[in-house]
Amino acid sequence: MIITILTLFPKIFESPLQESIIKKAVDKGLVSFNLVNIRDFAEDVHKTCDDAPYGGGPGMVMKIEPIYNAMEHINANTKRPKYILLTPQGRILDEGTAVRLACNPHLALLCGRYEGIDERVLSLVDEEISIGDYILSGGEIPALALIDAIIRHIPGVLGNEESANDESLKDGLLEYPQYTRPPLFMDMEVPAVLLSGNHEEIRKWRRKEAIKKTILKRPDLMAHVEPNKEDRKFMREIMEDIPE
Ligand code: SAM
Repeated sequence: MIITILTLFPKIFESPLQESIIKKAVDKGLVSFNLVNIRDFAEDVHKTCDDAPYGGGPGMVMKIEPIYNAMEHINANTKRPKYILLTPQGRILDEGTAVRLACNPHLALLCGRYEGIDERVLSLVDEEISIGDYILSGGEIPALALIDAIIRHIPGVLGNEESANDESLKDGLLEYPQYTRPPLFMDMEVPAVLLSGNHEEIRKWRRKEAIKKTILKRPDLMAHVEPNKEDRKFMREIMEDIPE
């Protein structure tokens, strides 16, 4: 997969794209990044990329022409990528979106700054994505969050193929509790079933704990879960155990 990033601040990406899982994905040739500095496509000698908003108001707005020019340059050199605008006005990123986007051969992520981008940019992009209901200073951190969420779903990126499947939200539930050595810390013990070696009992315990966690921490997610017969039994038991 190719991920092109259009930004006024390409240096922000230098370290995060050269560490850990993202670096390994690059080293394995599974993903490559193409950083495009929007400023290189400004039309005047001062390389102006922002201007005051029509109608007045605080701050500056990113101009459309440098972005359009950058996109034209990208499109002239490769098959047009899928353009995604990072914006707090977009659809909120979720795991399903990350899985869907991981199937694209080339994504181009457009990062806004200042008060945002001239609204006419919406005619140039294919999708708008938000990483949550809060305002950040720029689209670079949202782009990094999106990249990290997506590349985990590219086959071969994670060392253990199972680990992407087992995470929270894969089937709508939060992940079951995880423990590692030591078996006793302070007065807190690892649940005995996990030390039992009984794989079927461990599977059942994990499923029930995942359901319990989701009910207690994120009950909103349960509306999208399709419980099977065993899940419904666990749900009844969990509800009986919850104090009035
Ligand atoms: N004035 C804009 C508005 O109210 O929609 C917000 C501008 S914000 C300060 C600057 C840029 O940061 C945005 O253009 C966008 O690219 C990025 N940004 C901020 N918060 C974001 C979020 N929650 N998700 C995705 N991008 C965000």
